[in-house]
This record gives sequence, C-alpha cells and structure tokens, in this order.
Amino acid sequence: MKEIRMVDLATQYQRIKTEVDAAIAEVLTSTQFIKGPQVKKFEDNLAKYLGAKHVIGCANGTDALQIAMMALDLQPGDEVITTSFTFLATVEVIALLKLKPVLVDVTADTFTMDIESLKKAITPKTKAIVPVHLFGQCADMEAIMDITKQYNLYVIEDNAQAIGADYTYANGTKQKAGVIGHIGTTSFFPSKNLGCYGDGGAVFTNDDALAERIRMVANHGQSKQYVHDIIGVNSRLDTIQAAVLDVKLQYLDEYAAKRLAVADVYDAAFANIAGVTTPARAHNSTHVFHQYTLQLDGMDRDIVRQKLQEKGVPSMIYYPIPVHKQKAYYNSMYTNEMFRSTNKLCETVLSLPIHTEMDAEQQTYIIESVKQSLK
Ligand SMILES: *Cc1c(COP(=O)(O)O)cnc(C)c1O
Repeated sequence: MKEIRMVDLATQYQRIKTEVDAAIAEVLTSTQFIKGPQVKKFEDNLAKYLGAKHVIGCANGTDALQIAMMALDLQPGDEVITTSFTFLATVEVIALLKLKPVLVDVTADTFTMDIESLKKAITPKTKAIVPVHLFGQCADMEAIMDITKQYNLYVIEDNAQAIGADYTYANGTKQKAGVIGHIGTTSFFPSKNLGCYGDGGAVFTNDDALAERIRMVANHGQSKQYVHDIIGVNSRLDTIQAAVLDVKLQYLDEYAAKRLAVADVYDAAFANIAGVTTPARAHNSTHVFHQYTLQLDGMDRDIVRQKLQEKGVPSMIYYPIPVHKQKAYYNSMYTNEMFRSTNKLCETVLSLPIHTEMDAEQQTYIIESVKQSLK
C-alpha cells in the first residue's frame, strides 16, 4: 500500500507532470518571471470558471484578504465581523490594519458563520463581514447578504477552502463560492483545493471600481507607473505559479468530484458509530471537501490520534485553539457562552486524510484503523 498522507501532491503531480513541466519550461525560456502573459491568462480563465468579472492574482491568501480590506478604505476602529473557528490569517489582517476584529460563533453542524451570532454582533461601527467557507462549503450567504443590505455593510468571502463550491439561493439561482459578496479571496497554498507549487492567492470581484482599487493596492497603490494615489503593498502572483495553476484549473472539478467520492465512502463507513459525528452538508451549498472532519464525543482524541499514528494514518486537528482564546486576539468582552459551538469543535474535531489520489485500498485501511482506534 502507498504511504498515507493528509494530501498526496506527489502522486497528483506525476499524473499531470508532462503538462506542468511544459508550462513551467515555457516561463523559464521566456524569463518573464514577473507579470508574464500566463498571469493574465490564468486570471481570465479563473474569472470565466467562477463567473467573476475580475480576478486579480496576488502573493498568497493572507495578502488577498489584506488587499481586499485595504481596497474598501475602512478606517481605524471600524469593526469587521468574522468567525472564531477559522485559520488565523482571516483575523490577523483585520488587526494589522488597525480595524477591530469582532468574532462570532459558527453553527454546530456546518462549521460556518452562525447567523444569530452575527446579528447580535452588529453595531453602528460594523463595516464589513468576512464569512469563511470553512472546510469546503459555503456559509449561509443569502442570509448574510440580506443582513448586509439592511445595514449597508461589505462582505468579503474568505474562500481559501471552498474554491469551486456552488451556492444555491432559495429561488434556485446558483453562484460559485467567492463571487457572492462584494469581494472574494482565495489561497493557492499547495495543499488547498486549487494549489500551486509555492505561494499564491487571488482576489475576485464583480465591481469594476473595486477591481481597479484592488489592482492598485496590490501594486504599490499605483494608478500608473510611478504615480501612487493610495497606500498599497507589493503582492504579485508569480508567472511560474500562474502557469502551474492554469494547468490545474482544468482539473479542479475532477479533483472536487474525487474528494466528494472519498467523503461519501467515509460518511457511509462512520454512520451510526456511537460518539462519532460525520460532517454535515449544508442544504444550500455543494461541498468540495477541503477537509473531512469528524467530531469525536466522549473519547480521548489524543489517544485516537496516537493509535492512528501508530498504524501509519495521519490525522490533524483543524483548529485546536479558537481565535478568541489566542493571546494576541483575546478580548475581555468574549464569554464562553458566545462561542459554544466553536469551543466544543476545538475539543472534538479530527480531520482525516482526503485528497485527489486516495485509492480504495488506502481508504479501507484508514476506515478500519479509525474504527479500531476508537475502541
Ligand atoms: C489558507 C488560508 C488562508 C491563508 O492563505 P495563505 O495563502 O496561506 O496566506 C486564509 N484563510 C483561510 C480560511 C485559509 O484556509
């Protein structure tokens, strides 16, 4: 049996090696490492895939969030609401820009922004909401957009984990994750669903004026060369990474289908096991399963992980400490009552290997190993 990994980028690369190597070689030959034609080509192809009017590449997913917030021209002290159960980058950029992060709870089943908690957190200082499409499915965007309209707020979707997921509105209309709010952001970190071979990220929007500001912010605030109208940053998507991504974009739907098939097998295997909850699927979103995350109740998770490790099955805890309990982001206004789901999830979640290259033999072995480790 092939070694089991959380993600198997090595096998995936072997399957697309000819195309990827040729794409990289083309960049090497041209030496247009910065702003080569592959960057625009990939931005255009991703825009087409997402149904977004504008896609602007940048250096990573954290920068994408920062650039999005800088483009909105928020003022110090403005409040930005996001979830406490997320990768920390989301909150970090809010604080870095001297905005005030306001953390809310997630739902107990889908792990995305809890609408009741969101409503309670809105104040006259609230300017933006950052829902995170955690683990591969969309937050309840229709409810979030309705609230946004009511209070005149911006929405930035942190779509680092759900690229390719489809959101369905109550009236049946569908949109891709990341193009529903005013701005969407993503990461092309190698292990993400659309990952490059280094760092990369992108910002999406359907708003022409915002797109122009986003491009300026990402490029030193320049309106034209050596003319700086606003404060910006230097954040670019490398040409080599864009060339790799343009190859991999063609496989994104196939990759999502493979992940979904793995999740379906896990769901069936772990249904009806006492103390084990399989991940819920939102009624209004497809799931691209960036992570497959079980909840383990009434057992020692560390011992389960240890036993799995001994059998050669890796597992991960995303995320062990919620943002509201991180020293850097602690705020005395937060109570445990406000984060009931988040606190519980941090103590019970366990993510299993899921990727595009999982074979039946590996998955059967993982399932048997999990069942034995629970005892
Ligand atoms: C990965 C990730 C990011 C940050 O992306 P980087 O490319 O690593 O900077 C931000 N938000 C979420 C939810 C992520 O999963």
